[in-house]
Amino acid sequence: MNVILRMLVDGDTGSTSDWDDRWNHIKKFLERSGPFMHPDFEPSTESLQFMLETCKILVIGAGGLGCELLKNLALSGFRNIHVVDMDTIDVSNLNRQFLFRAKDVGRPKADVAADFINSRVPGCCVIPYFKKIQDLDETFYRQFHIIVCGLDSIVARRWMNGMLLSLLVYEDGVLDPSSIIPLIDGGTEGFKGNARVIFPGMTACIDCTLELYPPQINFPMCTIASMPRLPEHCIEYVRILLWPKEMPFGDDVSLDGDDPEHIQWVYQKSLERAAEFSITGVTYRLTQGVVKRIIPAVASTNAAIAAACATEVFKIASSAYLPLNNYMVFNDVDGLYTYTFEAERKENCSACSQVPSDLHFSPSSKLQEVLDYLTESTSVQMKSPAITTTMDGKNKTLYLQSVASIEQRTRPNLAKTLKELGLADGQELAVADVTTPQTVLFKLCFTS
Ligand SMILES: [Zn+2]
Repeated sequence: MNVILRMLVDGDTGSTSDWDDRWNHIKKFLERSGPFMHPDFEPSTESLQFMLETCKILVIGAGGLGCELLKNLALSGFRNIHVVDMDTIDVSNLNRQFLFRAKDVGRPKADVAADFINSRVPGCCVIPYFKKIQDLDETFYRQFHIIVCGLDSIVARRWMNGMLLSLLVYEDGVLDPSSIIPLIDGGTEGFKGNARVIFPGMTACIDCTLELYPPQINFPMCTIASMPRLPEHCIEYVRILLWPKEMPFGDDVSLDGDDPEHIQWVYQKSLERAAEFSITGVTYRLTQGVVKRIIPAVASTNAAIAAACATEVFKIASSAYLPLNNYMVFNDVDGLYTYTFEAERKENCSACSQVPSDLHFSPSSKLQEVLDYLTESTSVQMKSPAITTTMDGKNKTLYLQSVASIEQRTRPNLAKTLKELGLADGQELAVADVTTPQTVLFKLCFTS
């Protein structure tokens, strides 16, 4: 009987709703051997049973990647899926976030995505959380077998990475493998994307490879000022150099990306600049995109990356195939390009190495310099670090930005030298930041 017809006849009767041949496409991978199979894997019916009945997956993000992931996982036989997303649906999401319709605009993405999958895929149970990942705790995260991230924020990714690292259990310095929850991370930016597999505490974590995320993509000033080659260079010229010089809307009016008159002005001036250098391609849309730093989301990139991530979830959950080792790069700007490399663990990674990283400063360096290092160093890249230490058995806050009254009280410390603050060589500094749920330990090493 035709599968669709059989589904209509049987209706949704929970986990017993499986019709004949329903999982044939999955069984081909799990119930017979093949050349790419994991060397230790014995084909059997158990893997599929585990996926259908026991395996619990957490999807972080119900946006462009999240919709694809939920659909892929549900159709691959995963039935215990939880999804976290803090956003509501915007009309501009509808072209690619295909679980949402015009009537859903304004509703939480997690709720709508879960309802859609649950009504469309018989037996699948998606549980939504309309929350920030930071509002859920260790007990929540510990219940999952695998976590897959489809996020657009590096800070959120790092926080998730930090949370999974905090769940690791070490006994006499030896990692207990049962405390590891694999993290599959997908990311896309326009026509570029990546998928990676992280076994926290064993393979490179997000923070081990922080250098891969440059703080901000900027064009060199000399290019913008004198050698523009791209339409973006012309727009940046107007935004950075011409606007402050000409102040077209008055002396203290700064450029507002949401003000159409401002964008129109930048657009016209960029066209003039482009004409001067025979550059084509400046449009109103691109102008707004550059000014507001918008990178357009591309549905096909999301589909490819989510497919790669869902495949990794399947490989790990079934243990039938060796997972990706461990970082796949994808680029479809011009044709299609993809390659895989093994990102390596960083020995002194501040997130996963278990050893405090050294901070090399002279005793006459100011606390401000330490703060600048924590935010600007490519390997640390914190956002608003709070620095504390222990002195004479007491906790002392050296600087904390997020609470106004404490910021005011501790601000004078920034101008003091490390020596004046009473810090000693080898002293440990505990640093808290939004990029991680745990405090990160650093060890002060005085240079002479
Ligand atoms: Zn690491």
